[in-house]
Amino acid sequence: MFNLILFGPPGSGKGTQSTNIVKSYNLQHISTGDLLRDEVSRQTPLGVEAQKYMDQGFLVPDEVVIGMISGKIDENPGVRGIIFDGFPRTKAQAEALDKLLEFKNTQIHLVLSLEVPEDELVRRMLGRAATSDRSDDNEEVISKRIKEYHAKTAPVAEYYDAQGKLERIKGDLDIQDTFKLLSREIDKYLLPA
Ligand code: ADP
Repeated sequence: MFNLILFGPPGSGKGTQSTNIVKSYNLQHISTGDLLRDEVSRQTPLGVEAQKYMDQGFLVPDEVVIGMISGKIDENPGVRGIIFDGFPRTKAQAEALDKLLEFKNTQIHLVLSLEVPEDELVRRMLGRAATSDRSDDNEEVISKRIKEYHAKTAPVAEYYDAQGKLERIKGDLDIQDTFKLLSREIDKYLLPA
């Protein structure tokens, strides 16, 4: 198995590039943002709890997210690998993920971090707000999401950097050019399917 984390601040293009990577390399896609929004739209007990945090731009508590993800990792045995998108977002989540993968005799091989200047992030998210039906894409909540990123999520990059697994990728090029940079790193481990 080849397991990849696509890392980066909100608005850095993780969702878009995950779709490209999944198509090229045939990996299983696990996006905690998508999973949480699905729980919210079905108004499950987990979704009702998570929504309180998401609507305010706060991270959902670690135990909720970790519990939700552990079942997903086992959902498709025999996959080539998994791309984690929007997870882990705290050091506690990263440690929990390491344990879950170790239990399956595998590990995270590579963490690709999309680097985008902050003014570009805000510009993109405000642009998306006009057309998305996401309740957290408005100016006030966006600035809280960016604050949460700096306080809790940015340290996750250091966690993987210390393990020699982090590669920083320019995320402010056009979509195809950033995808080429990402592919160049992935190709060192896994060729397109
Ligand atoms: P973005 O990265 O653009 O903010 P996501 O779809 O990844 O969007 O996440 C949307 C919201 O879902 C986050 O602001 C947060 O409240 C919640 N969320 C998603 N993934 C996690 C996670 N791994 N841990 C905690 N909260 C999460």
